[in-house]
Amino acid sequence: MFDVKGRLHKILDTLPQGVRLVAISKYHPNEYIEAAYAEGQRVFGESHEQELRQKHEALPKDIEWHFIGHLQTNKVKYIAPYVSMIEAVDSLKLLKEINRQAEKQGRVIRVLLELHIAEESTKYGLTLDACRELLDGPEWRELKNVKICGLMMMASFVDDKEQIRREMQTALDFFHEVKEKYFASDPDFCERSWGMSDDYRIAVETGSTMVRIGTSIFGPRVY
Ligand SMILES: *Cc1c(COP(=O)(O)O)cnc(C)c1O
Repeated sequence: MFDVKGRLHKILDTLPQGVRLVAISKYHPNEYIEAAYAEGQRVFGESHEQELRQKHEALPKDIEWHFIGHLQTNKVKYIAPYVSMIEAVDSLKLLKEINRQAEKQGRVIRVLLELHIAEESTKYGLTLDACRELLDGPEWRELKNVKICGLMMMASFVDDKEQIRREMQTALDFFHEVKEKYFASDPDFCERSWGMSDDYRIAVETGSTMVRIGTSIFGPRVY
């Protein structure tokens, strides 16, 4: 098996205090997750509902599952009973559906708003203006079963480190803007989820509190 244990510790050793690791286990077998679990890792991220459901059923129940992919509203009901955080909320419609399903479960589900800052048109997420518009509106404040805990973004998939840094800095600046304007008295709004295998070091330097790392821990994905 791939040296999950060694790879995991190598990453954990480089993360400063205040930055948590979400181990992205999509497309990787349960044995790999168990290997990381045995080392104390408890937060894992998946991006497909069915795969997540199967892993949730098979693996220890104290794993905190983050849903990191694009989530269709009709899939929310399947993960609402157990998901720990939904990281990529990109519309009010999705936020409302998460609230509805969380209420049915008697839960409050923690979410992040996903920003679209990368230049690639393929990436999902709210533009900064769309995010402002959402938060300017009254509706999200009525949703008692979702808790907006921060922001999430993916930088452009490019080699240009300065571009990646600029995009993450834009996200960080925007976090402070939003924090001050809408969440000044809410200590739960504190998470900044950026940084993947190739760019997490830059992310740590630009205020990330949560890095989402897959390949560097588990190796290349087999699709
Ligand atoms: C797959 C994925 C990751 C992890 O990417 P790696 O390059 O394997 O570390 C992080 N975030 C999101 C949203 C992903 O879909």
